Amino acid sequence: MKREILGIAFDDLTREEAAQAGARLLEEDRFHYVVTPNPEFILAAEKDEEFRQVLNGADLVLPDGIGVVYSARIQGTPLKGRVPGIEFAADMLSCLNRRGGRLYLLGAKPGVAEEAGRRIIGQYPNIELCGAQDGYFRDEEAALLKVSAARPDLLFVCLGAPKQEKWMARWGRHTGARMAIGLGGALDVFAGKVERAPERWRKLGLEWAYRLKKEPQRAGRMAKLPLVLVKAAGARLKK
Ligand code: UDP
Repeated sequence: MKREILGIAFDDLTREEAAQAGARLLEEDRFHYVVTPNPEFILAAEKDEEFRQVLNGADLVLPDGIGVVYSARIQGTPLKGRVPGIEFAADMLSCLNRRGGRLYLLGAKPGVAEEAGRRIIGQYPNIELCGAQDGYFRDEEAALLKVSAARPDLLFVCLGAPKQEKWMARWGRHTGARMAIGLGGALDVFAGKVERAPERWRKLGLEWAYRLKKEPQRAGRMAKLPLVLVKAAGARLKK
């Protein structure tokens, strides 16, 4: 079931349900793309109609941040919970590993995707890493040609938002992949360059605070996030 939160139609799924839905998409022999919006996406999509349409056109729209879950509650349309993109990505890797398949990693700084790939295939022996490419290419189409030549089943697109979502919507169906997922900084995490918050912080809904502690330079970017809660309150009052 879809729940609209400030103009974005999210899929209201638990992590397990999202994994099952993703597994079904991976079974189908056609292209699908998955987006994992956080509050920053919601604010950006308000000012960028193309981005909003690309988000709403995805096969799965998963609430990545606790801020989305709070906004949903404030708005009076609560969601079952948050489905962090990186956890959905891990579930899709398990799924691909069960059936065997080809993975392509696109994004992050030079060398990061390769390192992430080495670590992933160390953990998932039935996955073949068919290619990796950094995310600082100039020519979108040239990047696409490299991906499609590798014939992936699953593709992680980690270019930051909205670049990664627009890339998937524009080029995804030409990659030949069954699924592309927009995953922001996930390759940095898979490569061991950035550490996720410990489980205790995550369970308390404080992953954002841990991230801010580790990367204080994000403070400016994060300062506008409470705005999304204010907007959710406004939406509730308008109803
Ligand atoms: N990135 C990229 N190409 C670009 C801009 C960013 O590959 O043109 C990468 C960047 O190196 C990082 C990821 O995209 O690995 C985005 O990280 P960000 O912190 O924006 O994402 P978040 O973790 O917030 O989803």
